[in-house]
Amino acid sequence: MNSDISEVLLAEPRGFCAGVDRAIEIVERAIAKFGAPIYVRHEIVHNTYVVNELKAKGAVFIEELSDVPPGATLVFSAHGVSKAVEQEARDRGFEIFDATCPLVTKVHVEVAKLAKEGYEFIMIGHKGHPEVEGTMGQLSSGIHLVEDVKDVARVAPLQTEKLAVVTQTTLSVDDAAEIAAAVRARFPAVREPKQQDICYATQNRQDAVKIMSPQVDLVIVVGSPTSSNSNRLRELAQRLGTESYMVDSAAELKPEWFEGKTRIGLTAGASAPEVLVREVIDRVRALGAVSVRKMDGIEETIKFPLPKGLKLDDIPPPGHIS
Ligand code: SF4
Repeated sequence: MNSDISEVLLAEPRGFCAGVDRAIEIVERAIAKFGAPIYVRHEIVHNTYVVNELKAKGAVFIEELSDVPPGATLVFSAHGVSKAVEQEARDRGFEIFDATCPLVTKVHVEVAKLAKEGYEFIMIGHKGHPEVEGTMGQLSSGIHLVEDVKDVARVAPLQTEKLAVVTQTTLSVDDAAEIAAAVRARFPAVREPKQQDICYATQNRQDAVKIMSPQVDLVIVVGSPTSSNSNRLRELAQRLGTESYMVDSAAELKPEWFEGKTRIGLTAGASAPEVLVREVIDRVRALGAVSVRKMDGIEETIKFPLPKGLKLDDIPPPGHIS
């Protein structure tokens, strides 16, 4: 029992965003409408708990479309897919539901539109992340990935008159701004998105950590190791000088992290359900926390519509994960 902890501060907003909520609901409704199994290409969202819950309900997660039997129903994950994957899925004749976050689709649409006008692209993002593969895969060529400022010095577009920047939606806002500034310095005529590609949920969760971090001795981020936006929250707190750890569940909390700490900050990535936050709170209470205080913050009201075919009110989402 650690008697130093007096308070837990809960970041606001935290946890599920509208894109994650929608993606999970698509899988749940597809199972309710068509029955198990429903195949999902890649983890629907990057969270172990969510994936395991959906597996228990009848979702089968695959990476290769060749692992999906003919005639099956297939859901694309919230991260989006390349044109090649989309085409292969159509060619194989699957019933497809696209759970790509509409804010990722917006980037895809922008890339397609500008490519028609002759633009080449610099994409700011993390190599190997499925969203980056999906966005870069909207084109067969002419889109170049930069992960940091050093990459900007190396990138070699074929021309510079028609060059546009796009970014992964879940980056560090500050890192992305620094990289975008380096792109601008090297290619002054570069076209930037009217509204930044980093999504509202990523921005809001990072803003909340910026407010919370200086007020606490330790920041705990609930999120899975594969979750880009969760990793960025932990890094941000650390960068602001506050010791910070990311946990996939309360079981990963280590009592020694809390030794000598008075105030604990708690947040969750956009793919981490509130139930996991509650479990962390229970564990920190058991370690001695006396009170839990929700911080003031932006209230998110955004909601994305479900795809056609899954909108029916007569398909109840059984036991929606929250
Ligand atoms: S983090 Fe942003 S881009 Fe990703 S699913 Fe949520 S709202 Fe969409």
